[in-house]
Amino acid sequence: MGVSGIAAATRLRAAGWTPVIIERAAERRRGGYFIGLFEAGMIAADRLGILGHLHDRNPGALSYLIDRSGHQLRTFSMKDLPGRPWLMLRGDVEQAAFATLPADVEVRYSTMPTAITQDDQGVHVTLLNSQSGDTVIERFDLVVGADGLRSTVRSLAFGPHENYLHRLGYMVAAFEFPGTPAGLEPGVSVQLVEPDRAMWVFAFEDHNPTIMISYRTDDVDAEFTRPAPERIREVFSDQPLGATLADVLGVLDHADNVLFDSAEQVHMDRWHEGRVVLLGDSAWCVTLYAGMGVSAGLIGADLLGELLERHPHDTATALSEWEQGLRPYVQEYQAVGLNQRAFFVPDTSGQVRLRRAMSVVTRFSIGRRVLSAILEGAVEARTADITATALQRLGIKPPPTV
Ligand SMILES: Cc1cc2nc3c(=O)[nH]c(=O)nc-3n(C[C@H](O)[C@H](O)[C@H](O)COP(=O)(O)OP(=O)(O)OC[C@H]3O[C@@H](n4cnc5c(N)ncnc54)[C@H](O)[C@@H]3O)c2cc1C
Repeated sequence: MGVSGIAAATRLRAAGWTPVIIERAAERRRGGYFIGLFEAGMIAADRLGILGHLHDRNPGALSYLIDRSGHQLRTFSMKDLPGRPWLMLRGDVEQAAFATLPADVEVRYSTMPTAITQDDQGVHVTLLNSQSGDTVIERFDLVVGADGLRSTVRSLAFGPHENYLHRLGYMVAAFEFPGTPAGLEPGVSVQLVEPDRAMWVFAFEDHNPTIMISYRTDDVDAEFTRPAPERIREVFSDQPLGATLADVLGVLDHADNVLFDSAEQVHMDRWHEGRVVLLGDSAWCVTLYAGMGVSAGLIGADLLGELLERHPHDTATALSEWEQGLRPYVQEYQAVGLNQRAFFVPDTSGQVRLRRAMSVVTRFSIGRRVLSAILEGAVEARTADITATALQRLGIKPPPTV
């Protein structure tokens, strides 16, 4: 029931399939953290019928660099990246995807796969209901594993996480802040960036802001041995916090629904094996630093449905064309994820100073041109109709433009 899974079910239903959605949680998740939906993702969302349920929650995207003593300097934001994203919450996209899911698609909560075996004709999946403890074995024509970074489908059908997860050496925490952090104006986003650590406040016009904290670590495993609020306080503790950071960390102490995880990419040589295919973070997690995970999940779902529709009796060809068409774009998103990490968490005080200088020069048009040149990576991948361009590259007639 993540973005990728719901979008895939909607698109496959439209292609004539009968999807069954399996979700481990007892109910659909809500809220969540800030995400930017880039043009390429918006085009896929439009094709899927999802875009009409979404809106940009912060069109102005006013953003400031701040320091601990409260000084503010107008700066650039995610809106300055190619593909000018709409800014919203992950839960907005899940809600919008859910709103487009045909009512006849079966959804089973508190359910997870525990074994997957396949032959040429289909896949046997053992499903465990965690509430009743019941187990059933069912046969499906196709299994789409859209179950996130630590995918169970991937581990059952492709092998252990260690074979595919690549740690970046950074931790991430994200949560909603009720109201406006001390020292800030409502609706204004800020970035408190220091070497190896950063705190971002993503503001919205019509919703509470969400906080993103990220920092470098030499020992990811050790990070999970202590409560997140305690560890994060320690990370920032070598100087007085200042009003804004103190307020944010105070809320973190009591926040529920805090995401706290390591930043990891998923690298796989193949995303499908027989009749099992992975989609979204489970297949290629590009990390939050790419800002393209939601977009990539929507694009992948749209292209998958398109190719299954073009090859109704040949799933093998559909999956291999899907992977061939999509992989070049996902590789670009993964490269962006690595390159853009320093935009979110700088490495050195020199980078922080450069950021301040860039913030000043980008008030002038020449400065903005320099910034664009620096941030120009993966322009087509962030702005194009990927379903159409991927099909064209495969020599297949694309669907009508949206
Ligand atoms: C702080 C942060 C900021 C981000 N910012 C952006 C951004 O600006 N732009 C952007 O595009 N992306 C962003 N991302 C990335 C984006 O959120 C993800 O790439 C995207 O949500 C992945 O969607 P998914 O559907 O593939 O996986 P998930 O959202 O992980 O969904 C997986 C689903 O599968 C379920 N599940 C898991 N295991 C099982 C199981 N064993 N059985 C049954 N169900 C299971 C889960 O409960 C969940 O519902 C950000 C991520 C973070 C953490």
